[in-house]
Amino acid sequence: MTVTPPTAPTPSPQPIEAGDRWQGGWYQRAHRLPSPNFGPRPAGARIDLVVLHSISLPPGEYGTGAVQQLFTNQLDWDAHPYYQTIRGIEVSAHFFITRAGVIWQFVDCGQRAWHAGASRWRGRGNCNDDSIGIELEGLEGLTFEAAQYAALARLCADLVARYPIRHVAGHEHIAPGRKLDPGPGFDWPQLRGALAGNALDWPPGSDQPG
Ligand SMILES: [Zn+2]
Repeated sequence: MTVTPPTAPTPSPQPIEAGDRWQGGWYQRAHRLPSPNFGPRPAGARIDLVVLHSISLPPGEYGTGAVQQLFTNQLDWDAHPYYQTIRGIEVSAHFFITRAGVIWQFVDCGQRAWHAGASRWRGRGNCNDDSIGIELEGLEGLTFEAAQYAALARLCADLVARYPIRHVAGHEHIAPGRKLDPGPGFDWPQLRGALAGNALDWPPGSDQPG
């Protein structure tokens, strides 16, 4: 019989931390709260776009938990008058970043979340097919927190490292005239600066403060 000599563990060329950032399409730095609102991406979809949004429920109120409830079809439509205007909608995003910079994930990045609606960017329509949707807790027109920019930049960098992301745009860019988020309070130059080491295309004018 052949005896195989024991071998020393092979040192990993990458920090272990890097390999632990993802479990399939789930981000390990996010709180995982699966949503039923998703479907398969079209065959061969190239996930090359990050779409940024803003949301708060009720609008302008933070930390209520209602966004997480909305994205998992658990929102009590009768709990606030505003909810009557969105009663019954079934939506989701891949990620939601709270005012404190805490990241929640609702949909596997390999799946198609329902965040963009009718949309067009970089010459292609139906942006849900091949984008990652990130919601920032906020209200369009108002500003966002430093902790949100930090979490967003790190998430985007980790997305770029895992998927062929080449474009970042706001919902307002991919659905002009219909959507206004994240709005003029979002500091595009700050995010661009944080991701300057990556080859990314940005919306026109996003190099200037809003
Ligand atoms: Zn949006």
